[in-house]
Amino acid sequence: PLTSSDPIVNHQICVCVRKRPLNRKELSKRDVDVVTIPNKENVIVHEPKLKVDLTKYLENQNFRFDYAFDENSTNEMVYRYTAKPLVECLFDGGMATCFAYGQTGSGKTHTMGGDFSGKGQQDCAKGIYCLAARDVFKLLHSKFKKTELSVGASFFEIYSGKVFDLLNKKLKLRVLEDHKQQVQVVGLKEETIESADDVLRLISHGNNVRTSGTTSANQHSSRSHAVFQIILRKKATGKLYGKFSLIDLAGNERGQDTISSDRQTRMEGAEINKSLLALKECIRALGRKQGAHLPFRASKLTQVLRDSFIGDNSRTCMISMISPGMSCCEHTLNTLRYADRVK
Ligand code: ADP
Ligand code: MG
Repeated sequence: PLTSSDPIVNHQICVCVRKRPLNRKELSKRDVDVVTIPNKENVIVHEPKLKVDLTKYLENQNFRFDYAFDENSTNEMVYRYTAKPLVECLFDGGMATCFAYGQTGSGKTHTMGGDFSGKGQQDCAKGIYCLAARDVFKLLHSKFKKTELSVGASFFEIYSGKVFDLLNKKLKLRVLEDHKQQVQVVGLKEETIESADDVLRLISHGNNVRTSGTTSANQHSSRSHAVFQIILRKKATGKLYGKFSLIDLAGNERGQDTISSDRQTRMEGAEINKSLLALKECIRALGRKQGAHLPFRASKLTQVLRDSFIGDNSRTCMISMISPGMSCCEHTLNTLRYADRVK
């Protein structure tokens, strides 16, 4: 597996996979681990198949990514190879995005550090939101005179194609595009932050706002994209200097909710599907000089992230989470195929 002595490569588009361990529930149901990560970049899924005589056999499906993190990897390790290089690019005036992609329950929120469900803040402090903020302040103080740049944060969610401000009472916000195709989320609250602790506080607050009034936190989060942004501005002018968007995406299996009997669920599913497809196209186009006809407007998600996909100093990483169990095999293969095509 990957160790911390392995070199960090500066990819413009970094696509990697993280496998979580089998959980207690899966173990109690005798689910088996069908995912092997033999080295630092390969993933093998042992897909159960039936022969014509109905005997079972396993067919190996092989994938290769920039990095593959096995079930023993820590958030710290995943961060080091994915989001950390992007924090550095921020200070060169870069625009960066980091996506957590995968089915519900695969570990997106665990990796990002957005789970405050009664476990205190310790786990969250080891998530990518917080680790990134910690390094932002470290670099700010080492590279810049404190007076030059200010750091702000915003936190919003995109639910069924609508934007809600999680730092401002879940206010529904409009997205406007001017004649120069500059996209703006009108009235989005940007809080000044001064430490990684401030980030923890904002995320915790935002999550409470996010799930208030919904029956189950996980039900809700599986159907919406959560976008947390760290924004650097020139103190003198207030002009944008660099932006890092960290996105906990809706569960990708929800994009298949298109045959549900419930109309609302069907519409949400169609919206999620559309946004994940558009996202794939926008990431693929990053760094290729064709730009012109990208499907930014195909979804709210890609529309609001437009400025992070264009420009020479845009970088992204996608962390694709997978569950190891045989019971999740189909979703796992879907996730890996999607990630494979992002490259
Ligand atoms: P998602 O956000 O993708 O729906 P979660 O992050 O909520 O999934 O993870 C589901 C459960 O699995 C949580 O209880 C979480 O703590 C646990 N989990 C996820 N990834 C890991 C991991 N790498 N190691 C240990 N537990 C994990
Ligand atoms: Mg989640």
